[in-house]
Amino acid sequence: MKTVISAKDIQDLLRAGGDVKSLPTDALLTPSARDLLRELGGHGVAKPAVTSEKTDSPMPPAKPLNSKSRKPELEALFNSAYCHDLKLQICEIGRRLWQRAYVDGNGGNVAVRVGEDIALCTPTLVSKGFMKPDDMCLVDFEGNQLCGTKKRTSEILMHLQIMKRQARAVATVHCHPPYATGFAVAGVEPPTCMIPEFEVFSSVAIAPYRTPGTPEMGQLVADLVDKHNTILMANHGVVAWSHNNVEDAYFKMEILEAYCRTVLVSAQLGKQPNTFTALQLQDLLKIKQSLGIPDPRHGLKECELCDNAEWRPGVECAVTSKATSPIAAGYDPEAEAAVQAITEQIMSQLK
Ligand SMILES: [Zn+2]
Repeated sequence: MKTVISAKDIQDLLRAGGDVKSLPTDALLTPSARDLLRELGGHGVAKPAVTSEKTDSPMPPAKPLNSKSRKPELEALFNSAYCHDLKLQICEIGRRLWQRAYVDGNGGNVAVRVGEDIALCTPTLVSKGFMKPDDMCLVDFEGNQLCGTKKRTSEILMHLQIMKRQARAVATVHCHPPYATGFAVAGVEPPTCMIPEFEVFSSVAIAPYRTPGTPEMGQLVADLVDKHNTILMANHGVVAWSHNNVEDAYFKMEILEAYCRTVLVSAQLGKQPNTFTALQLQDLLKIKQSLGIPDPRHGLKECELCDNAEWRPGVECAVTSKATSPIAAGYDPEAEAAVQAITEQIMSQLK
């Protein structure tokens, strides 16, 4: 099996005094690793531009606080440069969510873990596009508010259940992006094997509907976060978690929403969308695994990948040996041939 090398692997190697020429020539490079190697020009010396941009970010306390920490300590953390920086990041993500129409009214919420069982989160009844750092709240993992003058979001329990269940989740973002929410309303999981970005960064599942803000809702979402980082909440919206930072959790939304739009457009073009092969998907899954992103397909055999039988608008499984019968999948070859013939006729008239 080929070794997967990420940009971080290369940076670690350089920091340890290694030479990029020692990397295996047949290794699979992630796109950022390829860019980094190009920037290095094969000299093996990192330029300042590729060192971590976050070096000037305020550091978290050396010893993480928890919900049992003394009130003055929690207040000091809440008012620290470290938390102020995170509050600014949350405001910025809120602005992007609003500008992209992923939130409506006071909808959507964001949380960032700042200790063992404590998190910063957005307030209730404030548009995500116009938040200020002073609006943020500090809560424990039971949802009790510890600091902040505004009341915490009513949907915080779901974020906290995710953080409790998924120890790697450092940030969570919830919103209602229309295309992805359309899939959540229809109860349709987006098909696979169409766009590499989606395969590498997203791992989607659908949680059943429950009243927003209830413990049951959080429970049903949390049940999925072991193997998925992006959960479609039936008849509601989407929530995503990241093991990196809040911007990365937000990126899951952009990637999912763009993907759902693209899939809908391709489904309307009167032609069977092309998919990439299971072997090509396996390369992407290797990159995904090296980035630490979960996916229930990690470790599956090639013939078990790219099964789109659940996706109704005419997408066939890319793996013939495992494809279900076309009739059983609601696909009629005769009707499809007729549509194809008519499409070709129209296209030839347009030429
Ligand atoms: Zn919501």
